[in-house]
Amino acid sequence: MSAKVRVRFAPSPTGPLHIGGVRTALYNYLFAKKHQGDFILRIEDTDQNRFVEGAEQYIINSLNWCGIPYDEGPGKDGEHGPYRQSERAHLYKDYADKLIESGNAYFAFDTSEALEEHRKDHEEKGKTFIYNWHNRLKLDNSLSLSAEEVQKKIKAEEAYVIRFRTPVAEILNLADEIRGNMIIDTSVLDDKVLFKSDGMPTYHLANVVDDHLMEISHVIRGEEWLPSLAFHMLLYRAFDWEAPIFAHLPLILKPQGKGKLSKRDGDKLGFPVFPLAWKDPKTGEISSGYREENYLPEALINMLSLLGWNPGTEQEFFNLEELVSAFEISRVHKSGAKFDPEKTKWFQQHYLQLQPDEALASKFIEILEEKGIYSDLNYTTKVVSLLKERAVFVDDLWDLGRYFFVSPTEFDPKASKKAWKEDSKEMVETLIKIISEVESYNAENLQNEVKAWITKNEIGFGKVMQPFRLSLVGAMQGPDVFEIAALLGREETLNRLNYALKTL
Ligand code: GLU
Repeated sequence: MSAKVRVRFAPSPTGPLHIGGVRTALYNYLFAKKHQGDFILRIEDTDQNRFVEGAEQYIINSLNWCGIPYDEGPGKDGEHGPYRQSERAHLYKDYADKLIESGNAYFAFDTSEALEEHRKDHEEKGKTFIYNWHNRLKLDNSLSLSAEEVQKKIKAEEAYVIRFRTPVAEILNLADEIRGNMIIDTSVLDDKVLFKSDGMPTYHLANVVDDHLMEISHVIRGEEWLPSLAFHMLLYRAFDWEAPIFAHLPLILKPQGKGKLSKRDGDKLGFPVFPLAWKDPKTGEISSGYREENYLPEALINMLSLLGWNPGTEQEFFNLEELVSAFEISRVHKSGAKFDPEKTKWFQQHYLQLQPDEALASKFIEILEEKGIYSDLNYTTKVVSLLKERAVFVDDLWDLGRYFFVSPTEFDPKASKKAWKEDSKEMVETLIKIISEVESYNAENLQNEVKAWITKNEIGFGKVMQPFRLSLVGAMQGPDVFEIAALLGREETLNRLNYALKTL
């Protein structure tokens, strides 16, 4: 690659960013960093009707939380700003005019009522109305009208749009880094609107003009834009600009059945489809987000990286740096990728294990405080080190180890039946004696003393350990019972054993 790699993520701020959008941003970021290039965020907000309050900030917060920062974009000025299309609105009309001058575009005065009529007419005959070469001379535009008539209409401030004059019967050879080559006959294309009657460009015009002005080298975007590729290539040609290289990413599919994973699926199917929770400013409806569901961004990123791409090896765990070096656009799949919420949890468990115990403890302390429990960092860190292996999320630590913070007052009936037998009282009494007398109180000494007694008297191991665990935990769960006893401390351990003696 000769020229500098510059890629962009170009979302429209029409609502929260779907994880499919996060994946597009991620692949752009990885590609840019792999080739020492720039990753640009461009906000495509020319469609004022679809503008949603707060959506742009949501997109920026999401990229930040995911750890895929952009080099240029809103709030990070480079040499190609501004990065919001609404702030570039003055720019686009000249480009539309240029296309009119060169004969590649024309004014169209057809009212929306007239177009609606045509559509209806066609529908009744079982046809689809397409505005292009086969009917444009019969419609109300600067190709069918005389120059004077056109001038008159413009002077009279009649509303118009500017349409692209798509060539007829040309075979285009389109290249895509992921899909290979595609052939398309321009006769099937319509004369798309470039510039709207409200004085704003359409997505197509603004997108192509900005990609050119921002010196974008590669366009990596979702498959839903593939049908626009031919038109975009024709636009580059009409402007006499070099087109970027294109790569269209496969769809993300629902976990079960067929079809695209949509914005509405998430909360219905029981997992978030957004990186951050989102409150709809109009309806107040809240959609869940990975951040609020306590996922680590590393887990989301690792999962998304493999949703449509594979490294060609067995490796599954990748941090961002490893992804940058392993990522190859040519290894992105053509076919849709099925979303797998269980896999996300699996990554989450992995990345949780990599967190330092103390960091997890700090988060766990906050959860404890919400429950009115105040625990210090030192003790909580030790609890975390015993429990974290089994945790997927920080809040699992509570279910796994509440007994480290509150002594059991009730005993699980099923466990009691299994663990507390006739001779349990006698066993616990001896345990109490050993625990009271053991010299330096720690897990190892405790274990040695208890095991020595068990061996000497040829007692079944379970006969001691089961009532011991039941007394400390209230159920038959948890890590090594000596570790639990050591962490609880001698006094608390004795209290719990005595309480069990009284209660069971
Ligand atoms: N604004 C478009 C979107 O919302 C950008 C498509 C593109 O990347 O060209 O997805």
